[in-house]
Amino acid sequence: MECMNIQLQDLTKRFPARGRKARGEVTAVDRLTFEVPDGLLVGLLGPSGCGKSTTLNMICGLETPTEGRIFFGGKDVTDLPPELRGVGMVFQNYALYPHLTVLQNITFPLENLKGAQKLSRTEMRRRALEAAALVQIEELLDRKPKELSGGQQQRVAIARALVKMPKVLLLDEPLSNLDARLRLQTREEICKIQKKTGITTLFVTHDQEEAMSISDRIVVMKDGLLMQQGKPQQVYDDPANLFVAKFLGTPPINVFEGTVRNQQLLLAGQDVLPVPGAPDGDVWVGIRPEGFVPDPQGPVVCGLSRVEVLGRDVSIVCTHPACTTDTLRAIVNARHDVDDAAGTVRFTLHPDKVFLFDHQTEARIR
Ligand code: ATP
Repeated sequence: MECMNIQLQDLTKRFPARGRKARGEVTAVDRLTFEVPDGLLVGLLGPSGCGKSTTLNMICGLETPTEGRIFFGGKDVTDLPPELRGVGMVFQNYALYPHLTVLQNITFPLENLKGAQKLSRTEMRRRALEAAALVQIEELLDRKPKELSGGQQQRVAIARALVKMPKVLLLDEPLSNLDARLRLQTREEICKIQKKTGITTLFVTHDQEEAMSISDRIVVMKDGLLMQQGKPQQVYDDPANLFVAKFLGTPPINVFEGTVRNQQLLLAGQDVLPVPGAPDGDVWVGIRPEGFVPDPQGPVVCGLSRVEVLGRDVSIVCTHPACTTDTLRAIVNARHDVDDAAGTVRFTLHPDKVFLFDHQTEARIR
């Protein structure tokens, strides 16, 4: 399959504000610049309302950008109508035709091709069977959508998106109508299909775990703005700001109010870690659950609430006066013998897992 990269350049969308008393405009997408490299799967990630769907709709041509340009393989497609862009699109609600069989649903996009693109019946059928085989639904071709599970319906929708052999594939929250088990299974299948076809894919989700697990790269958005992009592990290990640090990771990062004095980090007045080069002042401190190392002499003294056995690891749920998150969670190897009857537990900190953020701007400073 011929593929190509997608490039967004300063892409912006402003809508008139809605509501009875609304005035002015809402900036749904704000000067967004990023690339989906040829043949890769990029996860576009962010909380509800951050502009993910609007971005996708501009890429496929359903929305017109207010400003900025969109390029496929270096060619400017900003002013092309959707049908000339060569985009396959999969939505959250599958949008299958209920009265058509699976085979007819998959063939449907080929029925209306015009001019030189027009295909014979035999060729249409051959292509539909090929797409069905790709998503492994060959045995379901004569069924109607209502006779399928959610996961099967979503596979039909993917086959239908692939049947025109698009150059890029766009998926908008494709797994959100599936139950937890099917969601896991279907996301692995999407990943496999993407690798098999090598089709350049942009996958929208608000679920950070989903994005981290299947994406070659992730792009994190907030309020229409790009917060950070990179390989999932890279962004997790090296967050650019407090928002990204909090948005990625299960269990989430623990956040503290801290102070830097004489290149030492203080939590609740206690020296906990040398931070060479960090300027004096108040900071937000993010510590990943795996950043705590149990140590009877450690400087971080926490109240112990409970110890949860996870198998290889244990999760220590505790409290600390400087912690601002609801629960402080440390994940440590089960070989550490933590006495859950003790009132307190002490830790030293793993320096690579402790991030400092500016108290005002929330940008990363260490
Ligand atoms: P979700 O995950 O909930 O689908 P999203 O990240 O996809 O959210 P968008 O649907 O792109 O976000 O919406 C971004 C912002 O633009 C929101 O504030 C939304 O209310 C606003 N918006 C989207 N479409 C329109 C429209 N047609 N008119 C006015 N405002 C809109």
